[in-house]
Amino acid sequence: MSVALVWFRNDLRLEDNPALAAAIAGGHAIVPVFIWSPEDEAPWQPGGASRWWLHQSLAHLQGQLSARGSQLILRRSNHLDRTFDAETALWQLIQDTGATAIYWNRRYEPAITARDTRIKRTLRERGLVVETFNAQLAFEPWEMQTQAEQPYRVFTPFWRACLRRLAERPPREVATIPFALPAPDNGAWPTSLKLDDLDLRPRVDWAKGLRAQWSPGEAGAHAQLARFIEDGVGGYAALRNTPAVEGTSRLSPHLHFGEIGPGQIWRALREAASFRHDVDLSGSDAFLREVGWREFSHHLLFHFPATTEQPLRPEFARFPWRESPQDLLAWQRGQTGFPLVDAGMRELWQTGFMHNRVRMVVASFLVKHLMLPWQDGARWFWDTLVDADLAQNTLGWQWTAGCGADAAPYFRVFNPSLQGTTFDAGGAYVRRFVPELANVPNAFIHAPWRCPQATLHHSGVRLGDTYPHPMVDHAEARARALAAFSTLKTSGPAVTDPQTARS
Ligand code: FAD
Repeated sequence: MSVALVWFRNDLRLEDNPALAAAIAGGHAIVPVFIWSPEDEAPWQPGGASRWWLHQSLAHLQGQLSARGSQLILRRSNHLDRTFDAETALWQLIQDTGATAIYWNRRYEPAITARDTRIKRTLRERGLVVETFNAQLAFEPWEMQTQAEQPYRVFTPFWRACLRRLAERPPREVATIPFALPAPDNGAWPTSLKLDDLDLRPRVDWAKGLRAQWSPGEAGAHAQLARFIEDGVGGYAALRNTPAVEGTSRLSPHLHFGEIGPGQIWRALREAASFRHDVDLSGSDAFLREVGWREFSHHLLFHFPATTEQPLRPEFARFPWRESPQDLLAWQRGQTGFPLVDAGMRELWQTGFMHNRVRMVVASFLVKHLMLPWQDGARWFWDTLVDADLAQNTLGWQWTAGCGADAAPYFRVFNPSLQGTTFDAGGAYVRRFVPELANVPNAFIHAPWRCPQATLHHSGVRLGDTYPHPMVDHAEARARALAAFSTLKTSGPAVTDPQTARS
């Protein structure tokens, strides 16, 4: 029986996996493979939290495959020998197995796209059948274009076009995977590394908080989606901005690693709408719109690959960023003296996640209050988020800094205390992640520096000792940021008067 490799990457699932389904349909014996080659992703090699997730997710996939009489073959590039990269590892495996075909699902990060295009060409030249598929997105990034045949830069028309396309051509489910996967004749499996040989888990165990929070893998992804449809999506529109409650789906890391795909989410919501009249699905459109932002981020990264490092709006390259390692460290450690910012940064460190509203607030604080480069923030998120995703992280940071597509206007400088009283009114979120403020009354929980001394004392807080003084004054920092932004003489879309803008 001919052998085909199925190269798993950010598609760590068996269900609705078009590459796997095509390999099976081709009548081959299947050799599933994962190659760990972080150097290929430079300068965006997966960070610590991503590696932790990947280890768990691969372990889960190994279990699923072995339950089907198959095996996940693990190989790695050799970081000491630059010539031994993913392509070499793959070629070696082709020789080991005598494979005549290889199937994979596409990734869209610039370095990976370039690598994969090269590998595909070389393997085809060597006579292999190479087939690639889309498992990650509802739409290929190149599929959508404006009437002027340009990439979209504004989300709303992009999403409208996506919805039109979805109505015409809903995502179809691919063939289900048989209970037993066809294995190589006579059990002739190639050698595999052990999962621990990939060295993905941290040497010092800082991942306790991550383990408590997450269930990586396909089963965890489906359980999370089912829970969200049952209990979450009805309240999504109302609760999605409340960080103290689990009002959002928490599917982002599962989506990033491809343990579930957007088509599966779309179909699950459609099915629930048809058959689950007992469930409140009123937030489905608002929720799908956010999944649409994910599509938009991939569309942007594909068309503007330099934006991982450079602002989409070129005038922002002249922005007079500050350099201050100690301010960056205070932000990273959640020691800024602004409770909502500190709670967010500590949530990130403890759980590998941060609520979207708080991501916007901490990012705005870094680039506007501290005037530190958005790229520094993006790098920290990259290392600490379990859902770190090059397209979504780049969009999130450029949006906040005001230099990206459809970005928040530069003059919108979130007031962290006001954001706190609006979105965490009782302070439950801050109390959870900044326990030293747990006893501060609601009226001052987002601005402890305004709290009368006796009340602070009674709450067990000594500013500058148990909790920091605010590292900047909001009004002064805002004025400093606006002055810096005004030097850019923005040539982008017309902006309204900064003074009347909501901050
Ligand atoms: P839900 O609200 O349930 O949304 C469903 C899905 O839609 C998410 O899982 C996610 O895939 C997508 N989504 C939601 N909001 C956005 C958004 N604003 N932009 C793009 N996609 C979105 N998301 C990542 O997945 N990886 C990142 O590295 C990342 N970095 C970010 C950096 C900054 C500065 C900001 C402001 C946002 C970032 N986001 C990132 C987007 C967003 O914060 C997360 O996707 C969201 O918080 C994940 O939680 P959820 O799965 O419960 O989202």
